[in-house]
Amino acid sequence: MILIDGKKAAAELRAELKQEVTELKAKHNKVPGLTVILIGDLTPSQIYVRNKEKSANEVGLKSEVIKYPDSVEEKTVLEKIKELNSDKTVSGILVQLPLPKHIDKQKVIEAIHPSKDVDGFHPMNVGNLSSGYESSIPCTPLGCYLLIKKFEPNLNGKKAVVVGRSNLNGKPMTQLLLKENCTVTITHSKTKDLKAECLEADIIVAAVGIPELVRGDWVKKDAIVIDVGINKTDKGIVGDVHFEEVSKNAKALTPVPGGVGPMTIACLLKNTIDCFKRSQI
Ligand code: NAP
Repeated sequence: MILIDGKKAAAELRAELKQEVTELKAKHNKVPGLTVILIGDLTPSQIYVRNKEKSANEVGLKSEVIKYPDSVEEKTVLEKIKELNSDKTVSGILVQLPLPKHIDKQKVIEAIHPSKDVDGFHPMNVGNLSSGYESSIPCTPLGCYLLIKKFEPNLNGKKAVVVGRSNLNGKPMTQLLLKENCTVTITHSKTKDLKAECLEADIIVAAVGIPELVRGDWVKKDAIVIDVGINKTDKGIVGDVHFEEVSKNAKALTPVPGGVGPMTIACLLKNTIDCFKRSQI
C-alpha cells in the first residue's frame, strides 16, 4: 500500500504557489490578498484562521484577519463584505464557519462577490462547477482531487464512490470526479448497502464524520482511498476510514492526520491566487 502523503504534496504546492506569487508581483507590481473574517472565539476556528494566515504569509500573499465578537450584528458583517468586494487590494474573502446562530450563513455566503469567493460556496461558483465552467472550487475537495490526480493522472472510466453528500465536500467532489470522466456514485445516510457500493469502487472518497466507518472488507484490492474525515475519539484524531484494515487492501490511502487536511489550506492559497489572476485579465 502506498501512503498518499498530503503534508508533502501540500508543501510542494505551497512552493509552486510561492514562485507564482513572486512572478505575479514582478508582472503586476502587487500581490494577491486574502482577507479572512473571524467571528467569535471558537478555538478550532481560531486555530484554522491562524494556520491560514501563517500559510498565506509563507507564500507571500497579503493577508488580513478581521475579528468580530460573537455578538456582532449581521448587517455589520454584510457591510464589511460589501466594502471588501470593492477593495482592489483584496483578491479573496473568506468568512470562517461556523457562524453564530443569529447570522444567516447563506446570506453571508451570497454577499461575497463570486470572483472573490475563495471557498467556492457562492451559488454562482457551485453552478459554474457543475456546468463545467471556470469557478472557485471548495478547498477540501480540490485538495482531494489534486492528491488523486497526482497519484493517478488518468481517471477515465474509473468507478468512484463518494461517501457523503455535503455542499462542502461530497457534492463538489462528485463534480470534480465527473469532470475527469469517472463514473460516480454519491452515497449518503440513506444509502441501502454502502459496503456493496464501496466494493465496486476504484476510488473512494469518504467525507462523513463517522470514525472509521469504511472497513477493510469494504474496499477492493487496488482501490485508491481518500479519507476526508477528522474525528476526535478517545484514541486521538481518526478519519472516516479504518486505517489499519483498509491499508491491507487499498493500493493507496491518505492518512489522518497528514492527508487531506494540509491540502485544504494550500488550496485556499491556490484559490486566492487564481482569483487574483482572473481579476487581472
Ligand atoms: P456533513 O456536512 O455532516 O455531511 C456528512 C455527510 O455524510 C452527509 O451527506 C450524510 O448523509 C453522510 N452520512 C452520514 N452518515 C452516513 C452513513 N452512515 N453512511 C453514509 N453516509 C453518511 O460533513 P462534512 O462537512 O462533509 O464533513 C465530513 C467529515 O470531513 C467530517 O469528519 C469533517 O470534520 C471532515 N472535514 C475535513 C476537512 C479537511 O480539511 N480534512 C474539511 C472539512 C471537513 P445525509 O446527507 O443523508 O445526512
